[in-house]
Amino acid sequence: MAAMTDRLFSDHLLAALDAEEQAMVARVRALCRDVFGPQAATVARRDVFAWDTFRTLAREGIVGTAFPREYGGTDARQVLRIRIIEELGRVCSTSASMITGTDLSARAVVAGASPALRAELLPRLCTGEIQTAFALTETGAGSDVRGLASRARRDGDGYILNGGKKFITRATTADWLMVIARLEDGDGFIGLLVARDAPGVHISAEVGKLGWFGVPISTLAFTDVRVPATHRLGEEGDGFALAQDALLRARIGHAAMALGRAIGAVEIAATYACDRSTFGKPLGSHQGVQWMLADMVTQIEASRALVHVAAQKYDRGDADTATFASMAKLHATDLCMKVVTDALQLTGGRGYLQDFPLERFFRDAKLNQIGEGASEVHKTVIGRDVARRAASAERNPCLRDGPLTEY
Ligand SMILES: Cc1cc2nc3c(=O)[nH]c(=O)nc-3n(C[C@H](O)[C@H](O)[C@H](O)COP(=O)(O)OP(=O)(O)OC[C@H]3O[C@@H](n4cnc5c(N)ncnc54)[C@H](O)[C@@H]3O)c2cc1C
Repeated sequence: MAAMTDRLFSDHLLAALDAEEQAMVARVRALCRDVFGPQAATVARRDVFAWDTFRTLAREGIVGTAFPREYGGTDARQVLRIRIIEELGRVCSTSASMITGTDLSARAVVAGASPALRAELLPRLCTGEIQTAFALTETGAGSDVRGLASRARRDGDGYILNGGKKFITRATTADWLMVIARLEDGDGFIGLLVARDAPGVHISAEVGKLGWFGVPISTLAFTDVRVPATHRLGEEGDGFALAQDALLRARIGHAAMALGRAIGAVEIAATYACDRSTFGKPLGSHQGVQWMLADMVTQIEASRALVHVAAQKYDRGDADTATFASMAKLHATDLCMKVVTDALQLTGGRGYLQDFPLERFFRDAKLNQIGEGASEVHKTVIGRDVARRAASAERNPCLRDGPLTEY
């Protein structure tokens, strides 16, 4: 299919999608042009849950892309979902984060709930009638989630949950909390789906933050909360794997969202470079500005290719998907922070105004480098993988036989 519009950024990656998938991207583009883009500044003015945005995403079937067809979703391939999330991220982090957040919070229900629980909840999650929140992080367990202190104890036909969670997105609007806890009398971790109104659940007031307005966060406390065994996700001991499975999808989504925002930032800066003249000529005619734009566009296209490969690997179920997801998230989110900073610089004082979108982009960019594993954690994952594989990897043919220490 030919490019949908004459954009600053290439549409070449759309060629990887079939006609139905391309039509979905076109629908999302139209929504961004007509609804999410024009409303983004208003939506992000206050950090309260953006119900209209969420309902539009659900009504238009965008929330449903995360869910299997048999429950009303479209089970979209990741190569499509990254295009959708990129489109949303280009104008509105609120809407993009609602889609990555749906993956994060509902994936364990798709992957680990009993058939009866799936049949009860997934159709309603697809339509946006109900929501879930993903509750992993704790005061003593952020980057290092194995430090979790929340604990679940077997008790008759259920579990007793105690502990607390921190930074939980959508806790105040979710009907169900997907909680990962340590098994008190067994090995490893357990995933439990906890009703928000279960006795012993306390959800704090929303906690103020820098950006990502429209998707507030809260703190959770659990005191002797009884959870029926029917609401266990997977088996006892599966909790960590369920969380990693959800995080894997959400990381690729974070990367796509960051790329969308970086694309939006360059579009805005490039438009400014056309509109503004300094020292007798258009800003965009100065070589220093052209070089900045060239670096931004080149790096973004390289990063889009990496994120696309990570999504393809996810769709194929390749063994090295997690490493590529880490590379994609690391590269795209760090790049986004740099591009948004440079774009704001290029737009001068206007970039710093609340009325100008880059102020919002700048605040939103930071979280992509922290949530779903900070950049440094992903570097550790990638570097550990390289070091582990190096010993058995094909040697570079320039080398003599024997250990390199004998050179
Ligand atoms: C707005 C927002 C929304 C969130 N939503 C959710 C949610 O819905 N559910 C949920 O469970 N959690 C959520 N989180 C939590 C988020 O996932 C964590 O903040 C993140 O994983 C980092 O954990 P931490 O904040 O405890 O940082 P820490 O673990 O204290 O790490 C701090 C910093 O130290 C550095 N660092 C850490 N480890 C290493 C290392 N090994 N080597 C080098 N440097 C390192 C990194 O720079 C890191 O940013 C959210 C957080 C925010 C701010």
